[in-house]
Amino acid sequence: MLEIKKHAAAMVEGRELLAQAEAAKKIYDVEHGALKVVADEVKELEIQNQAIDAKSKKDSDLLYGGKVVSPREVDALEKDIQSLKLRKSQNEDRMLELMDRLPPLEAASKAAETVFREKKKALDAWKVRAAEEKTQLETRYRALGAKRPELVKVINPSLLARYEAIRAKYQTGMSEVLKTNTCNECGTRVPEKTLDTLKNDGIGTCESCHRLLYWTDGVV
Ligand SMILES: [Zn+2]
Repeated sequence: MLEIKKHAAAMVEGRELLAQAEAAKKIYDVEHGALKVVADEVKELEIQNQAIDAKSKKDSDLLYGGKVVSPREVDALEKDIQSLKLRKSQNEDRMLELMDRLPPLEAASKAAETVFREKKKALDAWKVRAAEEKTQLETRYRALGAKRPELVKVINPSLLARYEAIRAKYQTGMSEVLKTNTCNECGTRVPEKTLDTLKNDGIGTCESCHRLLYWTDGVV
């Protein structure tokens, strides 16, 4: 039970790390989103200007190629070239404006990403540790039944028999109660009464899969 208490303390730490990582991810998403809006607009303007250049070149080739002779057509081409020039210059002004805004947005996004990666790393490291602890915990529990006859004497024989039977059938005879107050193995809701017993270091079993339940502050 002391081991489970220690495990529970580690679970509280994990819950905090998870909350921190999630909060950092949210901030990163916001910062990255703001950067993307501006960067996408710059890209869009670049594409527009490429199209404008291509159309201008086509107009100029026509105009100076010697094939267009009617004054009406010449006039139309000249006007078109002028209006393309104006649009390109407006796009360039807007791009300069956006480029000024990019560096601080990039810095903010990168900083938020760094924080998020650090939090995620801490959470992942904790998950590995918690999984190891959980395996150790379960191994120790199995050893209790198998290796120490003196302990078997004090454990309720019917409970032990049930545990062994369940273990034989399902590989694992134990199941953790999740924070949703459900059995980790079969998903069945654990009644309040059983939860109270578990929280007071008592022993409870799942009503559905009959595994021995253990409580670790309900965080996984
Ligand atoms: Zn169950």
